[in-house]
Amino acid sequence: MHDDKPKDECGVFGVYGHPRAVELTYLGLRALQHRGQESSGIVASDGEGISSHHGMGLVDAVFNTDVLSKLNGHIAIGHNRYSTAGESTLENAQPLVRNYKQGPLALGHNGNLVNASPIRDHLENTGSIFSTSLDTEVIFHLIAHSRQNTLEDRIFDAFRAVEGAYSFVVMDKTMLMGARDPHGFRPLWIGKLGEAFVLSSETCALDVIEAAPIREVEPGELVALRSIHRGVESFRFSPQKPNLSQCIFEYIYLARPDGMMFGHGVNSTRREFGRQLAREHPVKADVVIPVPDSATIAALGYAEESGIPFDLGLSRNTFVGRSFMNPTQDMRELMVKLKLNPIRDVLKGKRVIIVDDSIMRGTNSRKLVKIVRQGGATAVHLRIASPPNKFPCFYGVDTPTRSELIASEHTIDEIRKYIRADSLGYISIEGMLKAVKKPKDFCTACFDGKYRITSNDGIPRQLPLISS
Ligand code: SF4
Repeated sequence: MHDDKPKDECGVFGVYGHPRAVELTYLGLRALQHRGQESSGIVASDGEGISSHHGMGLVDAVFNTDVLSKLNGHIAIGHNRYSTAGESTLENAQPLVRNYKQGPLALGHNGNLVNASPIRDHLENTGSIFSTSLDTEVIFHLIAHSRQNTLEDRIFDAFRAVEGAYSFVVMDKTMLMGARDPHGFRPLWIGKLGEAFVLSSETCALDVIEAAPIREVEPGELVALRSIHRGVESFRFSPQKPNLSQCIFEYIYLARPDGMMFGHGVNSTRREFGRQLAREHPVKADVVIPVPDSATIAALGYAEESGIPFDLGLSRNTFVGRSFMNPTQDMRELMVKLKLNPIRDVLKGKRVIIVDDSIMRGTNSRKLVKIVRQGGATAVHLRIASPPNKFPCFYGVDTPTRSELIASEHTIDEIRKYIRADSLGYISIEGMLKAVKKPKDFCTACFDGKYRITSNDGIPRQLPLISS
């Protein structure tokens, strides 16, 4: 059922100054598994040389005690990757490691560079040879081509050339760095564990290793960690503060609820979306149920605001992996039930409100409504805790194309008829933005098409070269 959800494209993690940096990075990556499940990698340095391991699949499939024991050092970075179709290969697993004039360098990226393709064309025309299809590799070449002396200055040169969404962790043999793009699309946190420093996409991974969150890396900031004594050194590579464009979809679906992001608690923001949804789309019903697990908190908010009891009407089998290849239609239907099954004693004879976080193509919502009716519901009302998804994302979240997004071509009533619900309601863009303190600081492009990084003709400079 969750195959029709947008996918975050990567989680990053890094540790500086801890004798068990590799194991801590492994634990951090496990906590960030929701941000990428297709490949994983860790790079470590003991100050003298770099060791690395990458593999396809989940973190615990890629790393075991034996593999971890071969990675040494007090500095480590890690990366979980989700890729778009066709490019899920080991060569594209991150962190990428390359040698340049000043030695080995490793880099892990969350986001998408919107102008990677013309930069890559230019670099290839001038002799650069690329070994992956990642937009991230452009950064390496720009760093290597820079004439600056220090690594920080070379990175600044690279960042000034690229546009788009990025949170990076970068390391060489002696230093760990982290950076966020000037618009702040994707998150990145700094934490402290004893004397050591930690970088992480989300605070949940800091919690897991018992590191204290210090602050978020600011948009347009690069932080460097090169000695415990010097602590966090901060550099700005973007002097002017542009319009911020933090991804509001992190609150809706992508981020884990047990953390802070962009100055807000994810749980409280997601809950407020549910409350606002109830204010905007009330309906008489007997029970509010979530689509587990991603819509649970919004459904709690809806139930609190409406006064209608909350219950769990769907049981999710968390052990089901991907559907097998080329199933028949009959088998595909059965696979859906394998993932999500109705709880009949909650649903039977009831008017049910289902709260979900989003609708992309609509196919899963239709199956969902059918499952709840099969469970005995007498009426099924679907409520969506995000506005209609009409536009694709170019900034690091894998969404269907515009023609595949059901809300881009159809009215809400047409969608309701297609999914066979008794009623359908989405939270409004204005209502969603009421839940955050500085609404202008958030990207809402997948709902309103207002892309903040555009070329002169008003459309994004290009499709992402490849998701990282
Ligand atoms: S377009 Fe949507 S998913 Fe992409 S960054 Fe903006 S809010 Fe996030």
